[in-house]
Amino acid sequence: TPDVRPLVAGNWKMNGTGESLDELRMIVNRPNSAIGEKIDALICVPATLVFRAAQSVEGEALSIGGQDCHFKKSGAHTGDISAEMLKDAGASHVIVGHSERRTDHGETDAVVNAKAKAGWDAGLVAIICVGETEAQRKAGSTLDVISTQLAGSIPDNANARNTIIAYEPVWAIGTGLTPTADDVQQVHASIRAALEKRFAADGGKMRILYGGSVKPANAVELLGVANVDGALVGGASLKAADFLAICEAY
Ligand code: PEP
Repeated sequence: TPDVRPLVAGNWKMNGTGESLDELRMIVNRPNSAIGEKIDALICVPATLVFRAAQSVEGEALSIGGQDCHFKKSGAHTGDISAEMLKDAGASHVIVGHSERRTDHGETDAVVNAKAKAGWDAGLVAIICVGETEAQRKAGSTLDVISTQLAGSIPDNANARNTIIAYEPVWAIGTGLTPTADDVQQVHASIRAALEKRFAADGGKMRILYGGSVKPANAVELLGVANVDGALVGGASLKAADFLAICEAY
C-alpha cells in the first residue's frame, strides 16, 4: 500500500529458550539489511523470553512482541499474562486471535476484540489475525468468513497506529501450502475495502500482513501483492537467516 511502511513480523509460537536470543542478535547485527531502512521488523517470542529479548535488542531496529494476552487487566487468572505485563517486560506489540488460539482455546471474535482493547490500554499495538479454514475456502465462503471475523474482532477505536491486521488462511499455516498471488490479492483487497468503509482514511493506512507458510522462496511473490503490507512468519522466523532472507524481499 503506498505510504504504508512494510512490517515483517515473526511468531515463534511455543519455541525458544535463552539460547534462541542469539537469533535476535544475528538479525540486528546483519549489515545493510532492509530492517530499519525500508521496513520495520518484529519478533513475537514466548512470554518467558519477552524480557530478555527486549533487553538484548534494546536500541536496535527490531521490536519484540507477545503472542497473546488476557482481556482483563489483572486478577484471578492462573497461568495467563496481561497486556500490561507484556508491556512492562518490553513488548511493543501483541498478536491476538491467532488461529491456534482460536482453535486450541476456543477464542471467539468477541474475546479477540476484548484482547485487542486490553493491548491498546497497555500501550501495545494489536496484531489481529483472521483467516478461513480449508473447508470454508472449499465451500466458497472465504470472503464472508473474513468479513465476519473483521467485524467482530476489530474494536471500534482501531486506527492505523494501534492495529495491524494479519490475514492467515488456517490451511496455509505451518503446512507449506500457500494461496496463489491472485487469491491473496482478492482477500487483501476485500479486507482493505472493509477497513476503509469502517475506519475511513485510517482504514486505508492500516497494515494488512499476509501469513501462512511464508518462506524466503515465496516472499518476493507474496509480499509483492497489492495491499500486502508485510508478513507474519511462523516457522521461517525461528532462524535469523530465513527471517532476514524474507526481509530481503524488500
Ligand atoms: C503463523 O504462525 O502465524 C504462521 C504463519 O506460521 P507459518 O509461517 O509457519 O505457516
